[in-house]
Amino acid sequence: MRLSVIGCGYLGAVHAASMAYLGHEVIGIDVDQRKIEALRAGQAPFYEPGLPELLAEVGATGRLTFSDDMADAAGADVHFVCVGTPQVHGEFRADLTYVNSAVEALRPYLRPGDVVAGKSTVPVGTAEAIAGALAETGAVVVWNPEFLREGFAVADTLHPDRLVYGLPTDEDGEPTAEGTKARAVLDEVYATPLSEDIPLVVTDYATAQLVKVAANSFLATKISFINAMAELCEATGADVTRLADAIGYDARIGRRFLNAGLGFGGGCLPKDIRAFMARAGELGVSDALSFLREVDSINMRRRVRMVDLAREVSDGSIVGKRIAVLGAAFKPDSDDVRDSPALSVAAQMQLQGAHVTVTDPQAVDNARAKWPDLRFASTPLEAAKDADVVLLATEWPEYREIDPDALAAVVAHKRILDGRNVLEPAVWRAAGWTYRALGRP
Ligand code: NAD
Repeated sequence: MRLSVIGCGYLGAVHAASMAYLGHEVIGIDVDQRKIEALRAGQAPFYEPGLPELLAEVGATGRLTFSDDMADAAGADVHFVCVGTPQVHGEFRADLTYVNSAVEALRPYLRPGDVVAGKSTVPVGTAEAIAGALAETGAVVVWNPEFLREGFAVADTLHPDRLVYGLPTDEDGEPTAEGTKARAVLDEVYATPLSEDIPLVVTDYATAQLVKVAANSFLATKISFINAMAELCEATGADVTRLADAIGYDARIGRRFLNAGLGFGGGCLPKDIRAFMARAGELGVSDALSFLREVDSINMRRRVRMVDLAREVSDGSIVGKRIAVLGAAFKPDSDDVRDSPALSVAAQMQLQGAHVTVTDPQAVDNARAKWPDLRFASTPLEAAKDADVVLLATEWPEYREIDPDALAAVVAHKRILDGRNVLEPAVWRAAGWTYRALGRP
């Protein structure tokens, strides 16, 4: 099939390459010329494991092209909308400017029966509004939310846990005739994953849009739940990692996403739960999501607590202290620093008078662009030179395996803060380090 993918960021670039890999003819569109130039040259415009290889493989087939001109989307059977929906500055709600301008730019090129498939995470009601705005074109709007995880984006796109289609429905909640046709088109787009028995949920617009924010709210809640338990562990001398192991053995609870530490960040979870709360307010049901405010607060408190912990191990003050921060990305295997807990803590410590040096295997350039006043180093040993405190803030595999003796040889004081509960306390203590973590004695 012929597909266009509008917005070639973390979601769209991977979606475009993956759809071409599945055999479709794909044009990726973005207003960011640097991204388009990189993608045209077969280069990933950001760090995502497996994406460079995928781009090289599909590039050779000629099925994947890129353009900064929306006119090149004309003729596609399905247009996937993958543009950003960030948080409005100073407010909780989502900024729909990019979605609306992409849809408006696409409008002149739509033919009756074309499918416009929204993948961006949007407030419930957006699909309905777009369908109304595009009604005259005869194009059919469907909502097909995306669940990929950065770091695993290629595998998640090719082998998703589930696919969700939100179709236009009639008064009885049944798909309209156009909706049924659009479903058949999407079934063809996703024929390969569907042939692998990946679950498919076919539903209405509102449910499809809610599925995405409900899933992210659940994940955020699970993380904040264990971080709330970490606060209790800190007050009682208990160990949150053992607690998580023990409760995680209960199959109803499960161990995944029960890792206490610096909490969640990135371009999705924080802004999605806030936008969800804002939308609930507009719908007059803000009480239903009041717990998400607590989820957000618990999450943000962990960052403050980590700065306090740095102060505690630094004899009561971090002013003038050298602090090495290992990690800038919001999670390992990504260069994404949007709302990164690591960078947020680094910046707070710097603002409070510490001399902070940050390192990250992939995210230093993005971090420097955001926080130019921080110092940056290319390796942990360079960052930790003469450090009074070392903070492990992003659990990259190479940081989990860092050798306490090698680090000890370069620091001024052997004080390690494990912001992700991934180091073995006994090993570090045996090597002479003061080890502190969130929720661990
Ligand atoms: P991103 O900022 O990396 O990418 C968005 C892209 O859209 C940018 O390259 C931008 O230049 C482009 N763009 C903006 N306006 C445009 C226009 N009018 N026409 C063409 N291109 C335009 O963001 P992202 O992380 O890829 O997220 C995109 C959407 O997907 C968001 O709604 C996000 O919540 C959702 N999502 C993201 C992920 C993820 O892990 N990143 C996962 C699932 C869902």
